[in-house]
Amino acid sequence: MTNMLLQIKDLRTHFFTESGVVRAVDGVSFDIAPGKTLGVVGESGCGKSVTGYSILQLINPPGRIVGGQILFEREKNGRKEVVDLLKYGARSEDIRQIRGNEIAMIFQEPMTSLDPLFTVGDQLAEAILVHQKVSKRSALDRATELLDKVRLPQARELLNKYPHQLSGGMRQRVMIAMALSGQPKLLIADEPTTALDVTTEGQILDLMQSLQEEFGMAMLFITHDLGVIAEMAEEVVVMYLGRVVEKTDVRTLFDAPKHPYTRALLESIPKVGHKHDGPLQTIEGMVPSPFNIPQGCPFHPRCARFMPGICDEAVPAETPLERSHTVRCYLYSEQAEGDRYGNPA
Ligand code: SF4
Repeated sequence: MTNMLLQIKDLRTHFFTESGVVRAVDGVSFDIAPGKTLGVVGESGCGKSVTGYSILQLINPPGRIVGGQILFEREKNGRKEVVDLLKYGARSEDIRQIRGNEIAMIFQEPMTSLDPLFTVGDQLAEAILVHQKVSKRSALDRATELLDKVRLPQARELLNKYPHQLSGGMRQRVMIAMALSGQPKLLIADEPTTALDVTTEGQILDLMQSLQEEFGMAMLFITHDLGVIAEMAEEVVVMYLGRVVEKTDVRTLFDAPKHPYTRALLESIPKVGHKHDGPLQTIEGMVPSPFNIPQGCPFHPRCARFMPGICDEAVPAETPLERSHTVRCYLYSEQAEGDRYGNPA
């Protein structure tokens, strides 16, 4: 593994329901370098959250990780080693050590993660005590320091408050404090600001960036919001129906997107300073049912560049473009003789 903290290879997570198999994640691969932020973007149901949950093996039945590798560089007994997280059982001691300690996760709605029956102090102290051999008093001191770090005023008093006594923004700061308690090398943030108003969202994103710098941690930032991606990510993965359709650095994604789905996503966001008389662009059609994924390129029923007889035959392979840019589309693959069909590069 070349200077990568996390390397996901051909990850497959499927859900075996009575109505059929849902291939929520179907051959996803990407890397995250230490201290860097990778954004994962796509519409609801594209598999981005399931990818995040799979890393920590938080997939419950009828879901199951059926293939792939999740290589993670961890430090064990003072030595660095690369391990395949999928070799650890979901209930193993190793994965418990990694969860919340080396890899932490924060979620869209903190109320679903915080227990309404316990105070903020109790919950933060518990998170600290799971991974550190310290007294309850030291854990509470550490909890106060963490609440200071996430810029919550009157941290000591806050320890005695219950989650329902805090605003949404404050609860998300508590969740971030909890995630930082183990000083993780990787933070998975699953739509952490989606439930917040725009001002609070901006504050939380600023906070996350400054904490990332201070702690030197990498981030996997999952969102449907390209504006958030532009602010937070260095590298971006665009997902559609369980697959990565485009992968590149953030500048290239906005300046020279290639995949018709990425282009459509970008066209559907309003641009500040651009006068627009007509209605805002939308992506044609709906995301297909996960039980009935179209043959060939799964985006073909919605794609303005659809090529009959090519796009509806087989799933396009990942085509490498310049540098670390890859795209899954026949417009760019030799298979469809992209230039003949009018490569839109
Ligand atoms: Fe559109 Fe065909 Fe490319 Fe799929 S493979 S995105 S249908 S042009």
